[in-house]
Amino acid sequence: MDKKVWIKFAYVLASALVLGVFLYLIQIPSFRSFLSGIENKTFDLRQSIISKYAKVSDEIVIIDVDDASYEYIVDRYGAWPAPRVFWAKLIKDLEPSDPSALVFDILFLKRFASDGNSDLELINAVKNNKNVYAPINFDNYSKEVRIPPNLPLHLQNNIEGDFLIKNNPDLVYSNCRKIIDEILNGTKNIGFINVHRDDDGVIRTMIPFLYYDGAYYKHLTLLSGLDYLGLNNSKFKMNKKGEIVLDNKHTLPLNNDGKLILNWYGPQWSFNYIPLWEISAAIKKSDRAFLDKNLKGKIVFIGVTANSLSDIKSTPVSSLYPGVEVQATFLNNILDNNFIKRINPVFDILISILIAFLVGFGVMNFKSPVKSVLLLFGLNIGYFILSLLFMKFFNIWISLIAPIILSILIFAAAYVVKYLITSRDYEHTYKLAVTDGLTEMFNHRYFQEQMSANIRASKRYNSVFSLIMVDIDFFKKFNDTYGHQSGDAVLRQVAQTIKKNIRSTDIPCRYGGEEMSVILTNTNKEDAIKTANKICEAVRNKEFELATGDWTHVTISLGVASMPADGDTTEKLIEYADKCLYVAKKNGRNQVVFEFSEDV
Ligand code: GH3
Ligand code: MG
Ligand code: MG
Repeated sequence: MDKKVWIKFAYVLASALVLGVFLYLIQIPSFRSFLSGIENKTFDLRQSIISKYAKVSDEIVIIDVDDASYEYIVDRYGAWPAPRVFWAKLIKDLEPSDPSALVFDILFLKRFASDGNSDLELINAVKNNKNVYAPINFDNYSKEVRIPPNLPLHLQNNIEGDFLIKNNPDLVYSNCRKIIDEILNGTKNIGFINVHRDDDGVIRTMIPFLYYDGAYYKHLTLLSGLDYLGLNNSKFKMNKKGEIVLDNKHTLPLNNDGKLILNWYGPQWSFNYIPLWEISAAIKKSDRAFLDKNLKGKIVFIGVTANSLSDIKSTPVSSLYPGVEVQATFLNNILDNNFIKRINPVFDILISILIAFLVGFGVMNFKSPVKSVLLLFGLNIGYFILSLLFMKFFNIWISLIAPIILSILIFAAAYVVKYLITSRDYEHTYKLAVTDGLTEMFNHRYFQEQMSANIRASKRYNSVFSLIMVDIDFFKKFNDTYGHQSGDAVLRQVAQTIKKNIRSTDIPCRYGGEEMSVILTNTNKEDAIKTANKICEAVRNKEFELATGDWTHVTISLGVASMPADGDTTEKLIEYADKCLYVAKKNGRNQVVFEFSEDV
């Protein structure tokens, strides 16, 4: 196979491996919840950015019991909570300004037994004004603690086709906190105010419906919103996508856990707040103009924001978010049809693979690592911006963390592949640089390097090493007789014969032409002579194949020199071995010579 194809195959294989491991890991619940924790944080980041550009509805007003209002009540009534007659009077005083709804984010729990007609006043105010909304709260206390109340039929709903709410144990409750019976039974405007926090304590979702004792119940805010839009009903239908379509403009797109993901208007205190004490002061002064201006036709939430009453929640856009504003946000989402929907996970997986593929492709094709890193960052930043735009304009939550992690993993894997390939290429290039092409022995340059290295080591450690010089006998004649092709073939076979007869620590080189040399590391002269004789004999006894297919014999002459006895530089050692070689030739060739008389 072509080398390029192999390289591509290696990249694809590494990427597939990473992808496989990743897909395997996300099956593990703890890993998935780790990832979804980070994913939630990226949601918060996106919300913090886009919420700055979201405008709250001016149809919503919050009357809040802030710190000053708390003082105002404690000053007049001696304690919080204010007696029911206070709220009853407030309702009566606000009604002339004709608010569309008065939604209490305050629970009217058990009767105030000692408080005379106070409870009754509130009961009548709620009963007589069709725009007053009061909350209940579901929980899961055991029957031993509290007998689960039977809730009035008129609060029950039916959701045809529901496959999300009933399947989520978080949304199926077995008990309910009781509020004053006459309020519970006296108005249809009762809804729950349960909220759900994610594992990190942050509220990102709202529960529009929950299931209790065989029926569905509505959230208080949903109830008031539906009334405001004229879409209230007790029968709903869920389609296969988990959406409850209210009309052609309003849909409740339930997430796969049966909850609605809120779109925030940030950061906080962004709704129209009026402190309760200012309202009370205006009532006292009969400042109807102020009340009318602020309340006419509005949906009014009444809740607490005072520090000492601590109804403070953590949300994506702020960790100090008034609970009543969470309700207002929910309502605003209903009115604007503005809930967030998570995209199909298949899309998340496909986009992750696409981005990972692009990163891998970049690493594979870019020579410069800077370019690859820029591509990685560029793609991820681009994808982040894309996900921001999707959330802002299409209300879609695309998963960010999976593609980012996957692209980084693929980036790393692709670099490992690249490193392996480059180092292999480098090895190959190095081998070419030190090898002789014809004989596949080391070349002359390498021979010189190794001689120097051995001389240095030998001096440093007082050790010995030897050098054998080899020259083929009558090779000119051989070439003339059989031709250069056959000469080359024999040269190669002599090289092989030498290699076969030396140790792996010895270094066989082609010195030049038909001369070869062997550096025998850590070898004394005696052993070197033995090796030289072994080589000489092996060549003598070998039959060499010619280019023509015929066979013949050749012989070689060898000279042996050792460090330090015969010299302590490359030049001296080569000169000594050469002189031996000369003697060998003179003495009839086909032999090893390791010493000579001074007159040579
Ligand atoms: P001797 O060494 O026994 O004294 O005689 P010789 O004929 O071998 O003499 P010398 O070593 O001087 O000859 C070198 C010859 O080797 C010259 C050239 O024809 C041959 N030769 C050198 N390099 C190559 C090569 O790469 N291929 C082939 N075929 N022949 C080569
Ligand atoms: Mg020669
Ligand atoms: Mg020769």
